[in-house]
Amino acid sequence: MISRDLLEDVRAAVANRSLHAAVAQSVDRHSLPAAAAMPKGQRELLRVRARAARMDAVRSLGELCERFIAAAEARGIRVHTAADGKEAARIVAEIAQAAGARRAVKSKSMASEEIALNEELGRAGVTPLETDLGEYIVQLAGERPSHIIAPCLHKSRAEIAELFSREAGREIATDTPSLTGFARERLREEFRRADIGISGANFLVAEEGSLVIVSNEGNARFSTTVPHIHVAVAGVEKLIRDYAAMQDALRLLPLSATGQRITSYVSVVRGPAAAGEDGPQEVHVVLMDAGRSDILGGPYEEALLCIRCGACLDICPVYRQTGGHAYGSVYSGPIGAVLTPLLRPDAQAQALPFLSSLCGACSDVCPVGIHLHEHLVALRARAVAQGAAFPGEAAAFRGFRRVWATPRRYRTLRPLLPGALRLAQTRGPLAVWRRGRGIPPVAPAPIARRLRAEGLIEGDA
Ligand code: SF4
Repeated sequence: MISRDLLEDVRAAVANRSLHAAVAQSVDRHSLPAAAAMPKGQRELLRVRARAARMDAVRSLGELCERFIAAAEARGIRVHTAADGKEAARIVAEIAQAAGARRAVKSKSMASEEIALNEELGRAGVTPLETDLGEYIVQLAGERPSHIIAPCLHKSRAEIAELFSREAGREIATDTPSLTGFARERLREEFRRADIGISGANFLVAEEGSLVIVSNEGNARFSTTVPHIHVAVAGVEKLIRDYAAMQDALRLLPLSATGQRITSYVSVVRGPAAAGEDGPQEVHVVLMDAGRSDILGGPYEEALLCIRCGACLDICPVYRQTGGHAYGSVYSGPIGAVLTPLLRPDAQAQALPFLSSLCGACSDVCPVGIHLHEHLVALRARAVAQGAAFPGEAAAFRGFRRVWATPRRYRTLRPLLPGALRLAQTRGPLAVWRRGRGIPPVAPAPIARRLRAEGLIEGDA
């Protein structure tokens, strides 16, 4: 059953017409070129190989974790392990405090969103500034990202110009050069002034002890090289055995995300700068578990293969109507509806699998072949088994089964059906379900009687 809060958020999102337009326009900008970027056969081959490499990594996480720590520390990277999000955020804040840091620049990181890092840094007296353009926009708006790879996709150009104008104290026009020009001018200076740079990681290469960061803006490189300290926060599922195992997923990531054959920047962080080199003097990696090991070895293990491309969000008919905020979770869309209930125990998270039409388009488009719709069905069943059903729902279905079980009962009770349906549509849970859906009227006569009347089947009419 969808909780009241979630229902309210979904209703508000569905009623917001300008949100639909902004979301549809943005997701089409990603998904249409993505579909056309590579012949299907070639993409399928990549998908099979990428899935195998990701599966090997997920099934060897313990071993890869040890290898990564040993190799990274040998390169001078300090690796910290965190059991949960709170610990991960605390570790980053402590690193910042120990260095006397006051200002942090961040490149886009869903892991840092997951652990509410900005709030923790604020409590530690450190001002975090998002430097990914989309993240910067949602930070100025006091909102959360609404998409894994396009955080401000719900915002129109006019809304962004208004935010920038307020920040600049002068009018910023809505054209792209004016908007990006303002952001560039504002952020450049911040990179120089920052004491600490914070990033996520797309892959953690175990054999090599290095981090790989994929981005389309130069901000990740600035954030990881200009400040004296670089801290990367990543979930353990980002581990991959070696570069060879990473290459197919690395190709599929931009292809599935934005339809690009190659992303603008692939940065490899191999440790602190050596004497005479530019770059940070300290590099830290916070490797967090935060519920991942509970998923390992279980029926939803596949969810850990995700490379956060966002393609399942773009294709999802529910996401396209609501955008990401309605999910009330850092991860939205189909992968959010699978991952969030596995990572968070609250009732709202458990209701997320119900935000799906179960059309299966998400599973078709997923570059690592996660059977998202099957997991959604299983998680719904789990939620119902835990008591998440409308009051009377089980009794209503039992009654339905009894009535439909024998032709005699069905024939006897059928004349009552139109009245009962009318009543149910105006009161009780069916009335809620019915909003936004048309329910066809009950046919005046059963189909068997009509077919007999037309002589198409035998028997009395
Ligand atoms: S589940 Fe698949 S399609 Fe969705 S974000 Fe993850 S990798 Fe991309």
